[in-house]
Amino acid sequence: MGLGDIGYEDVIAATEEFRRLGRDTFLQTYGFGRAASYELVLDGRRYDSKAIAGVAHGYATGDFLRAGDFSGGAATVARCLRELGFVVETGAAPSSRATLLDSLRKLKVSRGPGNPAPSRHQPLSLLWAISRTVDERPRMTPWPEFRDEVGPLLTEFGLPNAKATPQYPFWHLRGSGLWEVQGIPADLSRKMPNVTILDAHQARAGFTEGTARLLSDPVTRLDAITTLCETYLKDADRRALLAHIGLSGYTTAGNLTEERIEAALDEHDRPGGPAPRRDTTRSVIVRDEALARRVKELEDNRCQICDTTLRYLDRAYSEAAHIRGLGSPHHGPDELRNLLCLCANCHVLFDGLEIYIDPDGLVRATNHARDPHPLRRAPDHPLDEAHVAYHRTLCMINAHAR
Ligand SMILES: [Zn+2]
Repeated sequence: MGLGDIGYEDVIAATEEFRRLGRDTFLQTYGFGRAASYELVLDGRRYDSKAIAGVAHGYATGDFLRAGDFSGGAATVARCLRELGFVVETGAAPSSRATLLDSLRKLKVSRGPGNPAPSRHQPLSLLWAISRTVDERPRMTPWPEFRDEVGPLLTEFGLPNAKATPQYPFWHLRGSGLWEVQGIPADLSRKMPNVTILDAHQARAGFTEGTARLLSDPVTRLDAITTLCETYLKDADRRALLAHIGLSGYTTAGNLTEERIEAALDEHDRPGGPAPRRDTTRSVIVRDEALARRVKELEDNRCQICDTTLRYLDRAYSEAAHIRGLGSPHHGPDELRNLLCLCANCHVLFDGLEIYIDPDGLVRATNHARDPHPLRRAPDHPLDEAHVAYHRTLCMINAHAR
């Protein structure tokens, strides 16, 4: 068996027959069972990749391969199809999250002769696309919209001498296995279509369905953002970049507003009362105020980081701080294991990502030297290390470049 004999048009022909016959007849005719683990994704349609490869081999050589004829596994077939420029998605395997992050680490970014550093076009476009998933905008973006939004981004945050050519990432991100382009007829897809073709065929691009599904999970999403920043954007002003790209929610851990102070005061003034939805035009997450009171009681209104107990209006004053923020984009849970009792100063530093808790429970500074100091914790106050790790990751992507 030589999958290397298969050409681009053989695969296209096989997908056409697949559509003509319908999936079940196609599989039956050529001796394949249903297999959802590796799917060829083409123009929004999904195909069993092994069966397509077997039939494409038949078109190429006259030798139609059946399921039992493949010596390599489905992964080998996937690699062969990807080399021809096709998108092959792995199904919802447990390892898919790791595969996603691995694909992000291995983008085929160009390095021009004058550019020893990897091009930022693909990573910037992916970050932009991630911000769309945060905002729940449609998965596929029409080319003109992509051009108008991503183009300026490439100018501002691309490498100094790079040109703003959004058509390149729009098209070439297909090579990542995470991205698809729809609307371009197969005969024009063999090499990169020029802008006129993108315009004429109303091309659309975006994450594949599987990738979009993975990125709807906030923890996976943060890991994806971190991977892109750490791998390709080490020297960029990442705080400015995230804010510009529409990911400003990732530059703080929570809502750093006066509202927070108001809310904290309300907790004192309304003991035991209900927690009404606040009537405001801003998006405020109603949190469980009984829970906020509980963490303050447990910690006796003493800051878990600096041990201060503030006095305000002759009463002890402290704030309940969510470790992983509530609401978009972090979607942390309102539960005791996600809460700290902090003084106002430490709360600002914590939400502002200036301090974090390391895996040993020591509080450290993100951007400067600070003597590590253990986080104090009352015996009845559980903490979820997953939330602490989430906050720590946020601090890492926002850390100033040294
Ligand atoms: Zn403090």
